[in-house]
Amino acid sequence: MVSNKTPHHRSAGMSKQAIHDSLTNHMIYSSGKSCINATTRDWFQSTAYAVRDRLVERWMETMQRYYKQDVKRIYYLSLEFLMGRTLSNAMLNLGIDEPCKAALYDLGRDFEAVAGIEPDAALGNGGLGRLAACFLDSMATLDLPSYGYGIRYEYGMFRQSIENGEQVEHPDNWLRYGNPWEFPRPEVLYPVKFHGRVVEYKHEDGVVRHHWVSTDDVMAMAYDTPIPGFGSNTVNNLRLWSAKSSRDFELRYFNQGNYIQAVADKNESESLSKVLYPDDSTAVGRELRLKQQYFFVSASLQDMLHRYRKTHTDWSQLAEKTAVQLNDTHPSIAVAEMMRLLVDIHRLPWDQAWGMTTRIFSYTNHTLMPEALETWPVSVFEHLLPRHLQIIYEINHRFLQQVMHQFPGDVDLLRRLSLIDEEHGRRVRMSHLAIVGSHAVNGVAVLHTELMKRTIFSDFERITSGKIVNMTNGITQRRWLNQANPGLAALISGKIGQDWLTDLRQLAKLREFAGDEEFQAQFRSVKQANKERLAELILERLGIDVDPSSLFDIQIKRLHEYKRQLLNVLHVITLYNRIRAGAQDIVPRTIIIAGKAAPGYAMAKRIIRLINDVAATVNNDQQIDGKLKLVFIPNYDVSNAEIIVPAADLSEQISTAGTEASGTGNMKLALNGALTIGTLDGANIEIREEVGAENFFLFGLTTGEVEALHQRGYDAASYYHGNAALKQVLDMISSGYFCPDEPSRYHSVVDALLRHGDHFMLLADYAAYVDCQDRVTELYRDQAEWAKRAILNVAGMGKFSSDRTILEYAERIWRVEPIVPETALSRKKM
Ligand SMILES: *Cc1c(COP(=O)(O)O)cnc(C)c1O
Repeated sequence: MVSNKTPHHRSAGMSKQAIHDSLTNHMIYSSGKSCINATTRDWFQSTAYAVRDRLVERWMETMQRYYKQDVKRIYYLSLEFLMGRTLSNAMLNLGIDEPCKAALYDLGRDFEAVAGIEPDAALGNGGLGRLAACFLDSMATLDLPSYGYGIRYEYGMFRQSIENGEQVEHPDNWLRYGNPWEFPRPEVLYPVKFHGRVVEYKHEDGVVRHHWVSTDDVMAMAYDTPIPGFGSNTVNNLRLWSAKSSRDFELRYFNQGNYIQAVADKNESESLSKVLYPDDSTAVGRELRLKQQYFFVSASLQDMLHRYRKTHTDWSQLAEKTAVQLNDTHPSIAVAEMMRLLVDIHRLPWDQAWGMTTRIFSYTNHTLMPEALETWPVSVFEHLLPRHLQIIYEINHRFLQQVMHQFPGDVDLLRRLSLIDEEHGRRVRMSHLAIVGSHAVNGVAVLHTELMKRTIFSDFERITSGKIVNMTNGITQRRWLNQANPGLAALISGKIGQDWLTDLRQLAKLREFAGDEEFQAQFRSVKQANKERLAELILERLGIDVDPSSLFDIQIKRLHEYKRQLLNVLHVITLYNRIRAGAQDIVPRTIIIAGKAAPGYAMAKRIIRLINDVAATVNNDQQIDGKLKLVFIPNYDVSNAEIIVPAADLSEQISTAGTEASGTGNMKLALNGALTIGTLDGANIEIREEVGAENFFLFGLTTGEVEALHQRGYDAASYYHGNAALKQVLDMISSGYFCPDEPSRYHSVVDALLRHGDHFMLLADYAAYVDCQDRVTELYRDQAEWAKRAILNVAGMGKFSSDRTILEYAERIWRVEPIVPETALSRKKM
């Protein structure tokens, strides 16, 4: 007789001995090596497999738990997940960090070296993708039934090197040695259709229905990655889709005897999931990008409907059991795809399908910048997704009817709200589709949400008041403090215990120690050790000797004009000029900048080159005598961030007010005890409120002042003529002082400021920025006072955990509750 009980298995132990046995077993049976001739990579693989064994048990229990309780599930749809490395994170979340390291030590292996072999999973550009990764960590930690859905890019974010001062992009072949964290699921396979045409037909019930026929099909195959919560036995799932050619497609040619064409077409269709678009905050209008979007959305929705149907015989409960979050407009075609699946495939009446769709979806906006708002030519849609275009027209028709009813006679309102932009050669406005198809739309910081309501989405705010809400971003303290900064984590836990790991508001308890001299000294020595570690890395990788006792002034983020790395450079040159002019009593500074530029973004790449040219000049000038260093660290990614962030004294958050939606780098740095120099932009405003205005270096125009100055007519040249230091700096750049071999190299950079309107108002903010930097310098002379304010920054960061953000989404948008494990599997206590 066949038993229907789960076959018994012995769960893997959490002791050092059990892990030691797993390690050596995996070395032999999984890697096929003996411990004698194993390489560091073999040790990484074996360690990853040993840790993975412990994840899998909890993962299967979690999936069973959700299934048995028929829970409402959260689906986080994102074209990007910037995960970084997994090994340390998995060990810490499982609570087997110490026994694992001890077992490796006994086997004669250094954990840092083993962990350092793992390539970053860099399936994202920057903030938006890293947010998705922090959210996965928080959702698992909070026992929320959630699934990440995205694309398994074969090539993630490009690797950046600097050659002759310039950015060079290299492919990131991160899967070269295999990925021990993923489970291929060749049986989880869905067809995704493209092209073809739509046939109308009258169904036997008399209803007109639509067939989408003669399509080119691509198969989406699932790869699953376990996502462990911290201090919880919940292990959620991240499902990434990979493109496989469809068998039909292949056979058509094979049958015609055209073997070569068949294989060529197979490659063509599988290229869909090859590469991540490396553009941050700019919509790229390439057809392949829209194909990627629809590919992963269609597979994900088919998968969630399939999962729903395992426990339901009809569709009536779908919206009660499903919440889908759209991470930006990238997956917004999901609104039309859900309607297609429910109406065309599952034959629900339009109104019922639409009611459920709008209850299921919610949309997060990440930017106000016009160049980032996605629109697609109607002609592209017509060709690629003809049925979806019809559905979008129908949604639009019904929506505009309703608006017309609500605001009779306002034709211009209809034109502005329409899902179709009729003025730029007819384009589909993806943000409008996302808003109309969602019950909630959120911004990512208070200012950003207010600006959304007042500017780009003001018409929607008027007609659907209350739909636009704020969910201020956060970061996971597990990765960004506990894992990245073990020294500070231990110091904090020694003072206030470990509850901050799952309740970051506990950090407020540090306030009472901010003035404590002994605590300040300990805090400073942790910071010093982190700075020494970064200094070693800089020496090793770049051959630049930086002074770990100098002020580490750090700006790390994507290279973008609105983020104003150029303003930072203007300040560096200002300091350089002062020292050359004989200024005495200098506070030594090391300015560190890191960030990638989109490969097609010429101005951003030019600014990278300027940073490197200025660095070469300043760092090699004998006169400067080490008082000032500028360092550009290549290839900013999560793993480099984990080393740079803990070493920062000063965090540069200097975007033009009103341009940075939230920022999360600002949160990582303040949480690690950096003071911020920043504008009233994005989440800076809320950080300053939380840590106290007296512990934050504020400068610059406000959003209102920026707007007013634009209105009045901004005259950049007047600042140049009115400020001798600024004039000297700009004259040096444009005269070729930093590039004597090609003096005109930076004409375009200076022209952008002086002749083309200085769009981000660097010159208007220059004087205030330099003054503020002088206040930074003065404070740094008083190391005790600096330490006190840095501690107060850490203490004030409780709000900025992604746990808080996720709880807000869960309560206000998704309406889901934690599903806590009933029986605790064995777990090593922290
Ligand atoms: C946090 C993070 C970002 C976002 O930084 P911002 O300063 O908010 O733009 C980008 N890239 C990486 C690798 C990050 O870890």
